[in-house]
Amino acid sequence: CTLIISSSPPRHPPNKTRDTPLPALPSMAAALLSLLLLTSLALILCVHGSPPEPVVKCKSGNADCIVTNGYGTFPDRSICQVAGVAYPMTEDEVLAAVSDAARKKQHMKVVTTYAHSIPKLSCPGGPDGAGLVISTQKLNRVVAVDRKANRMTFESGIGLRPLIDAAAAEGLALPYTPYWEGITLGGLLATGSHGSSLFGKGSAVHEYVVGMRLVVPTSAPDAGGRYARMVELAEGDADLLAAKVSLGLLGVVSQVTLQLQPMFKRSITQREVEDAGFESTLESFASATEFGDVTWYVGRRSVVYRDDARLPITTPGNGKNDFSGFRPQLSILLAGLRTSEELLEATDSSEGKCVLAKVQVTTLLATGSGFQNNEGHLPEFTGYPVIGNHSDLQASGSCLTSEEDGLLTACGWDPRVDGLFYHQTAASISLPNIAAFIADVKKLRDFRPYSLCGIDLYSGLLMRFVRASTAYLGKTFDSVDIDMTYFRSCDPMDPRLDEDVLEEVEQMALFKHGGLPHWGKNRHVGFLGVREKYGTRIEQFVAAMKKYDPEGLFSSPWTDAVLELREKSLAVDRKGCALEGMCICSRDVHCAPEKGYVCRPGLVYKEARVCRKVGE
Ligand SMILES: Cc1cc2nc3c(=O)[nH]c(=O)nc-3n(C[C@H](O)[C@H](O)[C@H](O)COP(=O)(O)OP(=O)(O)OC[C@H]3O[C@@H](n4cnc5c(N)ncnc54)[C@H](O)[C@@H]3O)c2cc1C
Repeated sequence: CTLIISSSPPRHPPNKTRDTPLPALPSMAAALLSLLLLTSLALILCVHGSPPEPVVKCKSGNADCIVTNGYGTFPDRSICQVAGVAYPMTEDEVLAAVSDAARKKQHMKVVTTYAHSIPKLSCPGGPDGAGLVISTQKLNRVVAVDRKANRMTFESGIGLRPLIDAAAAEGLALPYTPYWEGITLGGLLATGSHGSSLFGKGSAVHEYVVGMRLVVPTSAPDAGGRYARMVELAEGDADLLAAKVSLGLLGVVSQVTLQLQPMFKRSITQREVEDAGFESTLESFASATEFGDVTWYVGRRSVVYRDDARLPITTPGNGKNDFSGFRPQLSILLAGLRTSEELLEATDSSEGKCVLAKVQVTTLLATGSGFQNNEGHLPEFTGYPVIGNHSDLQASGSCLTSEEDGLLTACGWDPRVDGLFYHQTAASISLPNIAAFIADVKKLRDFRPYSLCGIDLYSGLLMRFVRASTAYLGKTFDSVDIDMTYFRSCDPMDPRLDEDVLEEVEQMALFKHGGLPHWGKNRHVGFLGVREKYGTRIEQFVAAMKKYDPEGLFSSPWTDAVLELREKSLAVDRKGCALEGMCICSRDVHCAPEKGYVCRPGLVYKEARVCRKVGE
């Protein structure tokens, strides 16, 4: 994708895909199919990789830098410039960095090694180019182990995989985690990240935080002349409810203590069934299977239940999880896949997407999605159940750590290769509302049967279980988190195939059924009305912000807009703003009327406003 970002002109004409001469459809379909088979094979066979590039790049030493996220693009495609980056290696160095910035009233943000959140969370506020980013890349050690209490303390920049491995070496396990290991402890907590479970306190990692240390700015110097101080929060401290899920707005989290459990094994079986009536099974499924999740292939009309239970550590089994989508992928095939999708978009071939998705999903499921029995057979996956240590199954991400191969392969979304480029909508819908949401999506599919195959192409609509939390910015109810990933145009002014249907699903999830957005995912519209959804909990959170960062040095225009602070709002009203989810359309000009896309009510959810192609 030749990315088009707001402050720099495109290097190629934006409509280059539309100008490409297209092959005739039957031969195109055959070409796509063979390409896809090759791709699927490559996903299975690849063993090397190219670890991601740094997300902070500076012109001179650690000064004059550009900060981005792991995808190389923020939702609004803006560029984030900062005056400098600091790489503290100790808590004392964090204090010095925060103090130095606070003394100058410089805005700052924490940036992590790979910055895998989608929204513009790591870009400091204040004048453009004047902020500081404090990297946690070198704050990545284990600080303490308390074997009696099964607790461990980590520096906040530790990656999820090193954390899991360090705990496993002590015979301990973090019971629930995100599925992707390319994230840090500080970063995943800040956005309320989770796995899937309604058991116990549920799947959000912050439920297992029992202590935190933060470095916060001060307005006046202490006796030693420092404009920063340490804050230590322990279990039972009300401010921990703000600090556990903080969007990075209170200060720098330097250390976190987690309540762990003795290591255990898990048994995983995936089974695909038709999607008729599955909406009424979710709650009983979640109460029967501790780590279970459900993937809905909406276009394929099937669901895959992941039966996933805890077993004693003595159970035989060395199973592993190396999820196919998080393995290193051949760059050339990623480019081929992207080209296929662009061709299908350009030829308005929703049906073509269904064909492509059918091959892809069938291959994925037949190969166990990357689960490995690890029993010494040549094929990695020989059948279910896959039984193994929790630490070998809970998260994966081999594209991150594989040997450097000069971009022959990379993570699928690596911006250096013309690979995946997508939008993501992730919202937690309350358990009582989820069946109605699913029924609505099915009705929408009845209107436009092929329109949702694009989601199947990106691993389907993933449904995971998350419990209500006492953290102010945690979930306010027991919920099913729905996660859908879909094609994003290279050119932000280019409408997408069936985008009206995807927008309607997004608006149904967020507004009709009251979904709470994942703080680390989503397009701009995902956060509309969030203050109202959280009610007084936002006020409690804002009170903590004022207590620990009274001058708002860790705040930015983005977080202010989301939380509706300092007169900032998420309202955007400009040409084409609905095409990338920067606004919900209210006028045709918010879509692309010159390309035939106009603003219309939803087909099922009449209050929705979506960009629909005239004649659809
Ligand atoms: C492929 C992929 C799969 C994913 N899977 C899941 C999943 O299964 N479940 C899920 O819930 N989410 C998932 N996510 C989302 C991901 O967990 C979140 O976006 C997470 O916040 C990313 O963590 P990070 O370390 O990259 O932090 P970043 O994205 O870099 O930072 C997030 C925020 O935290 C702040 N921050 C980071 N560290 C600190 C600190 N030490 N002190 C103060 N503030 C800090 C940053 O300033 C920023 O505001 C996935 C993302 C990707 C790319």
